[in-house]
Amino acid sequence: MNKSRALKPPAFVPPSLRFANVTYVNRQPSVPAVATALEQMFAAGKAEAGLDFSVQSAYRSYDSQVRVYNDDVAQNGVAYADTDTARPGHSEHQTGLAVDISAVPARCSLDACFAQTPQGVWLAANAYRFGFLLRYPADKVAVTGFTFEPWHFRYVGTALAAELRAKRITTLEEFFGVPGGTQYR
Ligand SMILES: [Zn+2]
Repeated sequence: MNKSRALKPPAFVPPSLRFANVTYVNRQPSVPAVATALEQMFAAGKAEAGLDFSVQSAYRSYDSQVRVYNDDVAQNGVAYADTDTARPGHSEHQTGLAVDISAVPARCSLDACFAQTPQGVWLAANAYRFGFLLRYPADKVAVTGFTFEPWHFRYVGTALAAELRAKRITTLEEFFGVPGGTQYR
């Protein structure tokens, strides 16, 4: 979903969640297929490039998204908060399909400079192999409604991830022809 499309119902909870056997900053589970893909991706990053990763955050409930969003509004104001934190019912984290990934040792966590870390570079090039999409690219802010988040990956499955890659389509809004944009509706 995005700012034009809320979860239905807004307080949706995934039917099944599990913890991946990986390093966590905030221990939050994922949909089982996503947890398995994370284990495979982190193992490949280690084996192929000697890199270590952690899950910064994964599933967040509606109620925890209320807290995250309200904290952002309190610190930065609503206009800024709406550029980098989804309103409750609009967060991909609530689906259990989205993960924020950090480097180990931590460097540029949840920061645009993560894109220049070895982990950020490796993920941008390889995440699709494991079914993950870099969901908020730098050049598609007007489409997704979110600022560049090189740490935020959305699991879409390996078939769709490969098709997106082959067609050079970088957002789900463009692939499915659904509304996006920066305004809540
Ligand atoms: Zn995220």
